[in-house]
Amino acid sequence: MLTVSPRDRPFILTGAGVSAESGIPTFRGVGGFWRNYRIEDVASPQAWRRDRRLVWEFYSMRRRLASTARPNPAHFALTRLSRDLPRLFLCTQNVDDLHEQAGSRDLVHMHGELFKSRCDSCNRPPFEDTNLYEPPAEIPRCGCGGWIRPHICWFGEVPFELDRVYHALDRCTLFVAIGTSGTVEPAASFVARVFGRVRSVYLGPEEPANASCFTECHVGKAGEILPGLFAIGG
Ligand code: NAD
Ligand code: ZN
Repeated sequence: MLTVSPRDRPFILTGAGVSAESGIPTFRGVGGFWRNYRIEDVASPQAWRRDRRLVWEFYSMRRRLASTARPNPAHFALTRLSRDLPRLFLCTQNVDDLHEQAGSRDLVHMHGELFKSRCDSCNRPPFEDTNLYEPPAEIPRCGCGGWIRPHICWFGEVPFELDRVYHALDRCTLFVAIGTSGTVEPAASFVARVFGRVRSVYLGPEEPANASCFTECHVGKAGEILPGLFAIGG
């Protein structure tokens, strides 16, 4: 049990594991996305330049899968926690919208959002795009002539809102990572940044690659453990 107070500023980092119980496969687990596709073929700027259709095929498939997924008790527990702890900062590596579906607001999607697209050439802001569940027959174009791409941080690209993320990390009073393998940078190094300063807690069915940086690991499924993990104190 973790006792926290409304004065606390917990930094919560979630990964693919928090959505696993909602039926969205993790990247590296059994049935993971990467078992059918090679990362370099579908999730990099080079892949986009080489074969835009294949990239859209992959992201249309992921949109389809995520469109029927519903939040699980872990997502709801985090929403409740953020109501009790107004200074909680939620940062997700997930591109699905299950935290939002559960009622969470103001979170950072550091790797982008599956249901948003943007132009690959101009600065037009990303826009909601829930229709592309099937691979488009023709790759949509922007008015500027650029191609419309998924609003996703691909391998080799810089994650979103890192300034806000590091500001929150440096002010946090507790660090909690849930369902993330500790292998994808820069998120894998967040815990090292707070190491020795605050309590750091990992929650997932197996130890992450960066387990030695955590002060404690709770072994189990997020949906089963998270709803009872926190106690609100004075
Ligand atoms: P990952 O696949 O590398 O690791 C998933 C982790 O979740 C593993 O450590 C696994 O042990 C754990 N896990 C599995 N079931 C769990 C459960 N029920 N409860 C808690 N933990 C569980 O994923 P990652 O570390 O998030 O990083 C890889 C990349 O995958 C990220 O860039 C992320 O954007 C992307 N991704 C996102 C989604 C999504 O949006 N839902 C899904 C897959 C991958
Ligand atoms: Zn454009």
